[in-house]
Amino acid sequence: MTSPKPSKPSKSTASKPPQQVTSAREPLRTTPTHPLLGAHQSVAGGLSRAVERAVETGCRCLQIFTRNVNRWDAAPITAADAAAFRAAVSAAGLACVVVHDSYLINPGSADETLREKSIAGLVLELERAEQLAIPWVVAHPGAAGIQPRDTAVERAADGIATALSRSSALAAGILVETTAGQGSCLGHSFEEIAAILARIDAAGHGSRVGVCLDTCHVFAAGYPLFPAADLDATIASFDRLIGLDRLKVIHANDSKKPRGSRVDRHAAIGEGEIGSAAFALFINHPRLAGIPLILETPKEGADGKVDPAEDRRNLATLHGMVTANAARA
Ligand SMILES: [Zn+2]
Ligand SMILES: [Zn+2]
Repeated sequence: MTSPKPSKPSKSTASKPPQQVTSAREPLRTTPTHPLLGAHQSVAGGLSRAVERAVETGCRCLQIFTRNVNRWDAAPITAADAAAFRAAVSAAGLACVVVHDSYLINPGSADETLREKSIAGLVLELERAEQLAIPWVVAHPGAAGIQPRDTAVERAADGIATALSRSSALAAGILVETTAGQGSCLGHSFEEIAAILARIDAAGHGSRVGVCLDTCHVFAAGYPLFPAADLDATIASFDRLIGLDRLKVIHANDSKKPRGSRVDRHAAIGEGEIGSAAFALFINHPRLAGIPLILETPKEGADGKVDPAEDRRNLATLHGMVTANAARA
């Protein structure tokens, strides 16, 4: 991810409607239960800046990269920076913070050097998360390349299990993310995710591994999210194969590409192929109640620059879809 500079607040607010001001007596959300909504935020300017960005945009949950995700090496997190981050999270009252791992990591790789680097990379991600009191590292399961998929699935699972074994003193664990299945990427089917988890469970690390479901990815991989009966079937399939108890975080992203395209392109909520009607069902689904939802939607405004208004807009869209029916959950 690039490191966008925080955009300057606009001097003139004349063209914008006044922001809703909320007080303790007048809560923004009036539904009895409401989802835990948040977004990925940049750590440009320091780890604690991500928490400030979360607060600025009204996030209750946060995902960060703790390092440059396109490099193997990472400067250590100083004790002072870690303490400042933990204090900022607690002061902001964030309900859930997760890390997303480096894009270079591929524990399923056929290349032994790359696989070993990937396992060490996962251990480093877990250590950094632990330092920041973050419980989960969201990780893509990797890509098969020229290997048969079954072989790559086993290698990916064993690689993740090795990383968990080498970091057995830590509490932080790994959430295997469902993928769109672009190219030879693993994890596009619930069966593959289940196979990965089963091997990690068998290796004795089940308590430190769960799943992150990405709405854009599962849709691009071919799973229907609409109408209600199809969404129910998708969720039931996840539960039967993986178990909803393993689902710890959801990435809420619309998809620029059609269902089954196996192309991973995120869109703003309601502005992609998944659409508002599907998200309205999804966010209120009783079987998904209480699971944090984190946006990874485009942050660029009309001028192409990062604009916190985009996160606010997507969060408002999701909040607007929450119905009192969700209280049944
Ligand atoms: Zn994602
Ligand atoms: Zn994606």
